[in-house]
Amino acid sequence: MDWKDTPEQATFRSAVRAFIRERFPANYRPDTDMEQSLEPEDVYGYNWAADRRSVDRERREGALAWARALAERGWVAPHFPKEYGGAGLGAIEEFILQEETMRARVPPVNGIGVGLLGPTLLAHGTEAQKCEHLPKIARGEVAWAQGFSEPGSGSDLASLKTRAVRDGDAYVVNGQKVWTSLGQYSDWAMALVRTDPAARLRHGISFLLVDLSSPGITVRPIEDMRGGTPFSEIFFEDVRVPEANRVGEENRGWYVAMTTLGFERAGLGSTIKFQHALTSLIEFVRSEEGRRFVRADSKSALRHELVQRQIEIRVLYNLALYSVSKKAAGAAPDYEASISQLFGSELHQRLARTGMKAFGPYGHLTQRRGAPLEAMFTHDFLDAIAHPFLGGSSEVQRNVIATRGLKLPRN
Ligand SMILES: Cc1cc2nc3c(=O)[nH]c(=O)nc-3n(C[C@H](O)[C@H](O)[C@H](O)COP(=O)(O)OP(=O)(O)OC[C@H]3O[C@@H](n4cnc5c(N)ncnc54)[C@H](O)[C@@H]3O)c2cc1C
Repeated sequence: MDWKDTPEQATFRSAVRAFIRERFPANYRPDTDMEQSLEPEDVYGYNWAADRRSVDRERREGALAWARALAERGWVAPHFPKEYGGAGLGAIEEFILQEETMRARVPPVNGIGVGLLGPTLLAHGTEAQKCEHLPKIARGEVAWAQGFSEPGSGSDLASLKTRAVRDGDAYVVNGQKVWTSLGQYSDWAMALVRTDPAARLRHGISFLLVDLSSPGITVRPIEDMRGGTPFSEIFFEDVRVPEANRVGEENRGWYVAMTTLGFERAGLGSTIKFQHALTSLIEFVRSEEGRRFVRADSKSALRHELVQRQIEIRVLYNLALYSVSKKAAGAAPDYEASISQLFGSELHQRLARTGMKAFGPYGHLTQRRGAPLEAMFTHDFLDAIAHPFLGGSSEVQRNVIATRGLKLPRN
């Protein structure tokens, strides 16, 4: 396979670079104190969903202006068809756009709405649902969250208990979701609910679109061990959700959700951020200042590890491109997405450990001022702990690869 850009793709890449140079708002600056994650949504001190509601006027206006600039070209949601506000771009161009924004260290807009809900609605939504929601996502007017997990139902998602009972032309929803990324900054959530408790686990589930400003909803942020609040829990108390907000057939929501999860695990992910982190580490340990922090007797072992991480980042990039080339050929992401998720999340942990090891005891400094590389790797080390389960645990990804990829029997 030839990974090089075709002449058309190279022209598109140059156009994206020029666009970012000219249109990224100068007053939308990163908050480096907040940068503590290699997750794609947290981009170098930006988090668009949170920034658009920031109390800091410059941040808030910067985030909204950036969304407007991208929306003019349909580049908030480049893969949506033009009639829904996208640019109708193919998978490779979408990948190039994502790659170049990451390289330029500027944030994507509305990640969950664009990357997860959008493709799900395009595959399973009614025309009315597409017309209602996709243009608002593509204009950066609403932010979405993913309400799948519950206390006790993570890997075993099909055991979820949030109950939806039909009442006229609406469902009445009661229950709780947990670990909802960016829930407190979102306007809407896609939620899995149990509509038939008598049916076998995954056969009694429906997929609903829920307006988070509906009466009866309480969103409570959860603080993680770094002191950040990247996610929240959502409580539903007699919340009325119109039947028209159900995606797919009643009790068939599991299969809709599988489309969403396929898109969650596929794609570029944090590949470019890993490369930036490794490059900064190499430049730093070579610098006059950096040499003060690295123990002389650990240098050759460190050199070996740095090379290993570089190879692994390249492998991850190629895995992402492989999924994208399949998508470009018309296939939906399947077990390859689980391979990327598994390899990427475990690489994230290895990379963070390499950074921590390079600095020995200095790697324990969490305060940014005075710490090597402003404690970037210390924060990444803590962040990386959650990665082998946040998009489905490593064991679950291995199960998917074994059954769907290698066609091994379930039992
Ligand atoms: C930072 C972060 C963000 C998240 N964002 C969201 C979000 O936006 N929306 C959302 O819905 N959820 C979100 N989640 C939840 C995430 O999807 C779950 O944490 C994940 O599915 C694992 O579920 P669990 O936490 O209940 O762990 P469990 O399922 O209880 O797993 C505990 C351990 O048991 C192992 N295990 C479980 N079942 C098996 C099995 N069958 N075979 C082998 N081993 C097994 C697991 O691999 C794991 O090691 C987020 C989580 C994190 C940490």
